[in-house]
Amino acid sequence: MGRGGDHARTAAAPTSAPQPGAGTASPPAPPSGRAAGKAGTAVVQGPLVNGRRQPPRVQIPHAASGRYAVVPGTAEPKGTRGTLVRYAVEVERGLPITGADFAAQVQRVLDDPRSWGHGGTMRFERVSRGPVRFRVSLSSPALTDRMCAPLVTGGELSCRQGNRSVINALRYGEGAASYGRDLASYREYVINHEVGHALGHDHLGCPGKGRLAPVMVQQTKSLYGCAPNPWPFPRG
Ligand SMILES: [Zn+2]
Repeated sequence: MGRGGDHARTAAAPTSAPQPGAGTASPPAPPSGRAAGKAGTAVVQGPLVNGRRQPPRVQIPHAASGRYAVVPGTAEPKGTRGTLVRYAVEVERGLPITGADFAAQVQRVLDDPRSWGHGGTMRFERVSRGPVRFRVSLSSPALTDRMCAPLVTGGELSCRQGNRSVINALRYGEGAASYGRDLASYREYVINHEVGHALGHDHLGCPGKGRLAPVMVQQTKSLYGCAPNPWPFPRG
């Protein structure tokens, strides 16, 4: 089942200096929200990178409980056009990222016109029961390795296995060297890439030096001379 997996070992773990206050997941901060006034109540934010206020990095333990919790509730699809695709989100219990936060990010990415629903071809509804086309499963490095086997993710990579897009929480929490300090964009990339596999897309190569990397390039490992790009349809 090698086709869907980012299965080669990565050369080096990205360096990611923990930010003060890391350890809890937060949605992207508003552009101008800074210290909330009184000493000791500062809002922790990441830096501004590529014009985007970054979410705080989250330090991820190597292993958590090994058991997923399906995120409850539903998220309505955006728009009325296109094939309705139902999916579920699950987060390994014990990770320092809440299911609600992660599910909101996944839905935001899938609702974006630059994502797989581009041009009204598909719309995505998150559900917590019933048949689903795919699952997006946030997993500790240890669980990622177990779920992705026999693909070798080495505690570093993510994969698609069956109908499950296995997102390595280490990458989601801390980013990857290929995206530098742009954690917000890397998170969009890893969601779009692994969901892309679940929708049947295989890996692509970099089409030329300096061009935008297709989202199905294994951008966690290298950009191969391309520029980073998190989106299947970057021009919307
Ligand atoms: Zn891949």
